[in-house]
Amino acid sequence: MISRDLKETIKRIVSGSVLFDEPMNRHTSMGVGGTADIFMSPVTIEELQTTVSCLSDEKVPFVPVGNCTNLIVRDGGYRGALISLKGLETVEVSKEEGDSVFLSAQTGAHLSRLVELSVRKSLTGMEFCAGIPGSVGGGVKMNAGAYGKELKDVVEFVSLITREGIIIDVARDDLRFEYRNFVLAEGTVIVSAVFGLRKGSQTNIRERISYIMNMRKKKHPLAYRSAGSVFKNPPDEPAGRIIDEVGLKGLRIGDAMVSKIHGNFIVNLGKATAKDITLLMDTVQNKVLEERGILLEPEIKIIGDEL
Ligand SMILES: Cc1cc2nc3c(=O)[nH]c(=O)nc-3n(C[C@H](O)[C@H](O)[C@H](O)COP(=O)(O)OP(=O)(O)OC[C@H]3O[C@@H](n4cnc5c(N)ncnc54)[C@H](O)[C@@H]3O)c2cc1C
Repeated sequence: MISRDLKETIKRIVSGSVLFDEPMNRHTSMGVGGTADIFMSPVTIEELQTTVSCLSDEKVPFVPVGNCTNLIVRDGGYRGALISLKGLETVEVSKEEGDSVFLSAQTGAHLSRLVELSVRKSLTGMEFCAGIPGSVGGGVKMNAGAYGKELKDVVEFVSLITREGIIIDVARDDLRFEYRNFVLAEGTVIVSAVFGLRKGSQTNIRERISYIMNMRKKKHPLAYRSAGSVFKNPPDEPAGRIIDEVGLKGLRIGDAMVSKIHGNFIVNLGKATAKDITLLMDTVQNKVLEERGILLEPEIKIIGDEL
């Protein structure tokens, strides 16, 4: 339970929206999820800093969220605060050194804005992010990647806010990235990141992006709501192929279905609940383990309580 005093304090700190008992199905790309006690959108770094330290002092659990495109909130909702970072969205060229150009982006900026800016400025390095619907913060936390590249390949520098509300800057060599993960202490929030790109041919950059977007249209079930790839790829074979080979494409629980187009996507056919999705994930995991001896590890993040 969030006390009335704390609600008032948060409303004083945050000048962006502060919503109580906010249904998360309005925010997750999957369109599922119960209510978050608080869903707030700080719009300056100072507001974010004060919010984080206030929630920590009050021992209120909190989770930072970007575009919620890799996130399932269970149907019982989230007891605590979800800090939406969409209000922190500045993107700019921070430095140029010969052929190297550095883009600095706040955490809530959509990755597509970095892709667009890099096309406009003829910068190469960001093409693989075309079509990834996440934010800078969510992308860095997930070490988002596609077509052979990951954000760790271009991140030069990350600014973080610790649980205590202190800002720390970490350079590339001290950042610990893994496959679809950036190792962060719990409660740490990514505030901004700097990406190192190179001057290149605008024609080649455009061609690469249009190739990637065409592949996505062909291979991904974009007509339905989803959270992208559900499971991480095991070392030797893509999860989607394994799921296809064990015959699970089209398997349905409620309105959640293993996509008929891509085995590693679960789509919401309309009225899926988080429970439908998590049950379907369990079913896929069990069948793959039974038939192939492989334990698929979820890539999507699941938070909150069961109903
Ligand atoms: C159609 C579709 C296609 C996709 N294609 C790809 C793809 O090709 N490659 C790929 O890697 N992913 C893909 N995704 C998944 C998703 O878009 C990426 O993982 C994206 O980077 C998530 O960003 P987000 O802002 O939506 O993060 P969210 O879903 O909001 O959050 C994801 C995780 O990051 C944490 N987080 C978010 N912001 C911060 C922050 N500022 N500080 C600390 N932690 C934070 C959250 O707490 C959560 O644990 C796809 C998704 C969809 C729906």
